[in-house]
Order: sequence, then structure tokens, then C-alpha cells
Amino acid sequence: MMKKQISVLFMAAAMAGLLTACGSSSGDAGKGATTAAAAVETTAGASSEKKEETQAPTTQDGAAGAPLIMVTNAEFPPYEYHDGGEIVGIDVEVSQAIAEKLGRTLEIEDIAFDSIIPELQSGKADFGAAGMTVDEDRLKNVDFSDTYTTASQVIIVKDDSDIAGPDDLKGKYIGVQLGTTGDIYASDYEEEGSTIERYNKGFEAVQAMMQGKIDAVVIDNEPAKVFVSQNQGIKILDEALTVEEYAIAVKKGNTELLEQINKALAELKESGELQAIIDKYISAE
Ligand code: GLN
Repeated sequence: MMKKQISVLFMAAAMAGLLTACGSSSGDAGKGATTAAAAVETTAGASSEKKEETQAPTTQDGAAGAPLIMVTNAEFPPYEYHDGGEIVGIDVEVSQAIAEKLGRTLEIEDIAFDSIIPELQSGKADFGAAGMTVDEDRLKNVDFSDTYTTASQVIIVKDDSDIAGPDDLKGKYIGVQLGTTGDIYASDYEEEGSTIERYNKGFEAVQAMMQGKIDAVVIDNEPAKVFVSQNQGIKILDEALTVEEYAIAVKKGNTELLEQINKALAELKESGELQAIIDKYISAE
């Protein structure tokens, strides 16, 4: 099923590219991207017209166009989390807005955080939106869009902890979510005698700390705030470990989609929609 959608997607994209190539001779890359997006929409919407050319790739699934497949790890409030039976959050709404601008429906896959990059590399998904920090090592394996938010890695401890700042993490048991930048930064403390415990979900690390199994958790500031507000006896230390930027990841070399995403993001920033989505989930201090 997935394979089929992907191939439909690629064919639609290829056709869009073809139409662009035929219809535009301006050689303007930005304009090309716009036309490509519009062409996908046209392909999707006007199957009765131009039936000959569009029939094969678009009618197989009975769908008008291939969905845009987003991968995420929905354990990261307020960016992506489960609410009832639904996955909601900032990244979800931003991605929905992007998909809308591209004339595509959005399909969300909830997977382990450290599977997101492999999934993009293998072409099983189109983009990853998961509060992902732009990081040099990751840039070897994926391309990142323009950034859409600034974040930081913070330290959560119990209220009565003797850990008061980053230096006190030396020699301690530190919990992180596997494969995150929190994992990367906390791992620097291994040579200082610290032990890193890696969990599949950030909240599992917080629970382990509340149970006294570890001393501290290093995690992104916004999920940290959510976890601390929902649980008694834990706090966030004032001093953060790092400042980071979040962006959307695509398969390395998929410049067509990257340009479409960047254009959509720019429009969402310009119109104030992006800020409105963020404000809906994060109350100003
Ligand atoms: N921002 C962190 C990273 O990119 C954590 C992201 C997450 O856990 N979803 O590694």
C-alpha cells in the first residue's frame, strides 16, 4: 500500500516537473517550484480533463493525488502528541498548512524518533516534522528546510535535587530520549563519569527520574515544561544546555519538495499563521 502511494507520488511529482519544464522557460528556480506545486494540484484536481496523461498514476488508488507522508514521533508535546485518538500539535498543524498549500492531503506516520531519518533516506516518507533540531551530523543524511522555531535543551530534576546547573551533571545518571540532541549533549558528560540512560520516549525518562532511578533528564524546553506542569515535585533548571533551531527534514537531494516547503513556510511566517499555530499551543510567559 505504502509502496504504491510512494510510486504514485513520484509519478505525480515527475509529471509536475515535466509540465513545469514544458510550461516555463523562465529558468527561475523559485518560480519553477511554484509551478510544480500548482501542477501537482492540477493533476490531482482535473483528472477528467487531460485524462489520457493523468489516468495511469492517479486513478490506481482511486485517490485524486498521492498524500504527502509526514513522519514524526508523537511523544513530544506541544509539537506532536496523542490527544484522544488523534495526533495533534504545532508540527501537525504546520504540516497540514504546508500540505494544503501544495494541494496535497497529509498522512502522518508515528514512528520512533531515531527511525525518522532512515525512513526519509529510504524514501518511505516525504518529510519529517518532529521538533527536529538542525544538526551538522544530520545534515550528512537529510536536508533541512528553513527553521521555524528556536528551542533549547534544558535539565529537569527533582525539587530537592543537589543538581543546580549543567556542571553538576558530572558523575550523575542522566536520562534522555534515544537519538535526540539531548542524547548527544548529555553524552558529552560520559567522559566526566556520568551514565546516560536512553529511553524511547522523553516522558519515560521523566518517570524514571521521579522513581529515583536517574538523577536528571536532558530534554527540549517545551516538552520539559509540559512534563513538569503535569507532574508534582520536579522542576526545570534556569540554565539551559544549548540553544537550537527546529526545521523540517527531507530526503537528501529532494530539492523540489524542500523548495515547496520553504516557500510554504515563508508564506505561513509572512501571514502570521505560523505564529498563530505556535501561540495556540504555547502560552506566552
Ligand atoms: N529537538 C530534539 C532533536 O532534534 C528532540 C526532538 C524530539 O524528541 N522529537 O533531537
